Amino acid sequence: MNYKNALQHHIFKIISKSAKSLNIDAYVIGGFVRDYFLERGEAKDIDIVAIGNGIDLAQEVSKQIPNHPKVQVFKTYGTAMLKYEDIEIEFVGARKESYSEDSRNPIVENGSLEDDQNRRDFTINALALSLNENTFGELLDPFNGINDLDAKIIRTPLNPDITYSDDPLRMLRAIRFASQLDFKIESNSLNAITKNKDRIKIITKERIVTEINKILLSKKPSVGFILLEKTGLLNYILPELTALKGIDEIEGQRHKDNFYHTLEVVDNISKHTEDLWLRWAALLHDIGKAPTKKFHKKIGWTFHGHEFKGSKMVYHLFKRLKMPLNDKMKFVQKMVLMSSRPIVLATEVTDSAVRRLVFDAGNHVEDLMTLCEADITTKNPKKFKRYHNNFKIVRDKIIEVEERDHVRNFQPPVSGEEIMKTFNLKPSREIGIIKEIIKEAILEGEIPNEYEAAFQLMLKEGEKLGLIKHEER
Ligand code: ATP
Ligand code: MG
Repeated sequence: MNYKNALQHHIFKIISKSAKSLNIDAYVIGGFVRDYFLERGEAKDIDIVAIGNGIDLAQEVSKQIPNHPKVQVFKTYGTAMLKYEDIEIEFVGARKESYSEDSRNPIVENGSLEDDQNRRDFTINALALSLNENTFGELLDPFNGINDLDAKIIRTPLNPDITYSDDPLRMLRAIRFASQLDFKIESNSLNAITKNKDRIKIITKERIVTEINKILLSKKPSVGFILLEKTGLLNYILPELTALKGIDEIEGQRHKDNFYHTLEVVDNISKHTEDLWLRWAALLHDIGKAPTKKFHKKIGWTFHGHEFKGSKMVYHLFKRLKMPLNDKMKFVQKMVLMSSRPIVLATEVTDSAVRRLVFDAGNHVEDLMTLCEADITTKNPKKFKRYHNNFKIVRDKIIEVEERDHVRNFQPPVSGEEIMKTFNLKPSREIGIIKEIIKEAILEGEIPNEYEAAFQLMLKEGEKLGLIKHEER
């Protein structure tokens, strides 16, 4: 079969010509070919393997492109990269690899196309299309990757035990592809991952997080997390989550399995947002439940303060995984901390409660509502409907209250300076007290969020505190 159709992009002709002029063979391999057959849309990165020097080929290709894009050379890996339009094209010389015990960096020799296909992680990632003039578009599929694509199977070209032990990152890649593509991991592979799970230790945290992020961004992230849990990898990467597993029962009282509940919440939220950090928030929203779990004879199971505990744990978790300790982390912390706030509103929606919610959540109030809606996992259809209806009312109310009261990103209508000026005060406790009373009155709806009303309240409260208005002295 010929797949010239896959190679319509102008760049493939350029690479083909360049390879010919260097008198070497070249193939497009890996993700690009796989995604073509899966019809996953336009590729953003293309991998080229040269049977010869990949860096030379990249340089030749750059010469053939009118504006001669810059070639980035990675000498230690013998690879080169250039950008053409918005596509990143990576060039590598075909190679044969052998591994040592303690590193995922192999000893590398020059090799044939078959050698290079042997070192690929999965049969579906070893597919290559010829860029050579006489065979342009021909498929080279030594491991029947096409069959595995059709059957939706992740399988290693060689012995899985060796493949995963050589480079344990492949264990996460297998699970990530299973989740992203909705594929099954072939059973020998799955056993080999379970067997080699401890080898994950030699993988850097950054690479682990890259794969976790891709799992989280897949359509149904639970597929990946269940595989991570099954193989024992999750306990190494995110023990906070495995700690949520299981149901305890005392005196006939049970709580839900918070691990599977969490995965349901993540799947739910993934239908409504592509935002990686909101998905992280869903994944971590209940992690405080393991350390705060208690049983009380009268009321049963409680998780008091789990939101606060959980938000603290987010920091340690991000730090351990070398994730950014920036505003993204703060966002996740805030979502976890506030994750139960709208729940009370599901039964009774009052203006003041909504105003407080908008005040505390600020610009993240819609994200918080999305999280709380995803958190509704009751199997009772009546309750399910009622909670969703109430949250819909809350969402409408948020808009209404916001239009009227503008408490999002609240700025006090009377400033500290004004209070000082009015009562001829130096910085003092009284200013804080008055500001707090004004804020509370606005949030409770006792006065509107307007200058005049706030000013009058300030005068009244100043008087109560025994302060004297400046001009009257
Ligand atoms: P995506 O780009 O969607 O993440 P991909 O399969 O293209 O998926 P890349 O990381 O771009 O993944 O790698 C390109 C190709 O390199 C893969 O298709 C595979 O053939 C090979 N490859 C990548 N990582 C490994 C690895 N750890 N072990 C073996 N082969 C790998
Ligand atoms: Mg790729």
